[in-house]
Amino acid sequence: MSNKKTAYSCQSCGAIHFKWAGKCPDCGAWNSMIEEFTEGGATHFTRISEEKNSTKKVARKKIDLVKLDGQAQEYPRIQTNIKELDRVLGGGLVQASVVLIGGDPGIGKSTLLLQTADYLAKANVKVIYISGEESIDQIRLRARRMGISQTSIELAATTNVGEIVASITPEKRPTVIIIDSIQTMFLDELSSAPGTVSQVRAAAGELTIFAKKNNITLLIVSHVTKDGQIAGPKVLEHMVDTVLYFEGEKDLHFRILRTVKNRFGAANEIGVFEMDETGLTEVSNPSELFLTSYERDTSGTCVFAGIEGSRPLLLEIQALVSPSFMPTPRRAVVGWDVNRLAMVIAVLNSRFGLNLFDKEVYLNIVGGLKIEETAADLAVCCALISAARDIALPSSTIAIGEIGLTGEIRMVGNLEARLKEAEKLGFKNCILPKANEKNKNFAVLKKSLPELNLHTVSHIRDLAKFFKKG
Ligand SMILES: [Zn+2]
Repeated sequence: MSNKKTAYSCQSCGAIHFKWAGKCPDCGAWNSMIEEFTEGGATHFTRISEEKNSTKKVARKKIDLVKLDGQAQEYPRIQTNIKELDRVLGGGLVQASVVLIGGDPGIGKSTLLLQTADYLAKANVKVIYISGEESIDQIRLRARRMGISQTSIELAATTNVGEIVASITPEKRPTVIIIDSIQTMFLDELSSAPGTVSQVRAAAGELTIFAKKNNITLLIVSHVTKDGQIAGPKVLEHMVDTVLYFEGEKDLHFRILRTVKNRFGAANEIGVFEMDETGLTEVSNPSELFLTSYERDTSGTCVFAGIEGSRPLLLEIQALVSPSFMPTPRRAVVGWDVNRLAMVIAVLNSRFGLNLFDKEVYLNIVGGLKIEETAADLAVCCALISAARDIALPSSTIAIGEIGLTGEIRMVGNLEARLKEAEKLGFKNCILPKANEKNKNFAVLKKSLPELNLHTVSHIRDLAKFFKKG
């Protein structure tokens, strides 16, 4: 009897199922199940049960218990000298760590990593760049186009993990290896095709063990795929130390590098880059970039002072309200939660007397960033009132605050960072929650920002005074 069993693995989340389904029961992805064979069923299950039955005594190592107030360990780091990248990594690459860089195909991951290799080489860090996507000639052409001339970067175009591991002998050992991309890599030992969950996991596992053993830092590129036929970065997230996502609209010129997971630093940190033919340029003040087309004294717009990771970021929120002749008027949102918009519209109706139920409502966060913070409620609210009444907010105004169902405006965190960023960019007025006045540092903060008029509000009723005609 054959020992081979058929299993189906979801290429999006990696779940294994013994029945095929059009939609993955675990993550909900469509058409993501691919048939893969497992030798003798799920091998790790058999291994666990074998261990139970065995009578052999296992010598267990004792765990160390330490005091909570001990010194936190400092990890040796390698500076990439790309400040925005070092920032999302929590202060540089940690030695012998594994970093996954996920993103849509064509978004610029290879460009970012080639540039990183160049910066590292400039700092005399030994780098090997392994590409399974492009030939050596293509990489050389790309490097030339980007003005990279660091000859010390070593290249290889291969997809065979066994060959990679065998070729990097102690005398060739680099400090950093870049793998572009993990979906092209494969192990001879496995029968499934490159890009399947089992190959992607095994290849990443093999490379990780090799890197950790040899004190090498590993940067792994992984494509996010929409059609679900190739295993995405999600199936590797638990295996690596740090997960970064490279995001942005292809037709827009800037890119966001976001920390999703980091064993050596804070998650949710962002780095901002501008992209052109010659590569990526760091953007050290992203607020300026996102507000470049912001027109003051226009109705239907309000600036929100948000926090992304540890960094304040000013974003413009635009709203458009127009009469609808449909039984259910359209609500279209880009960059914000559609349910949150429905809530704000309902609160505006019952607590402010602004009826938008027979109107189409469009809301857009300029620049393509997605706002997750509830502190954006008040700015959304201001943009909606301004659009519906066709009255612009007082010149150079920002708004921050969370709105409750009764119309009350709740306190926000990180006030100091938000206000300082607003003042730095020349804003003159800020509408903010009255509840924040209770904070003991509020008076000091107010004094330190003489250029910024703070208008505190406790209920959305209080917004009426900002929208008076004439
Ligand atoms: Zn799934």
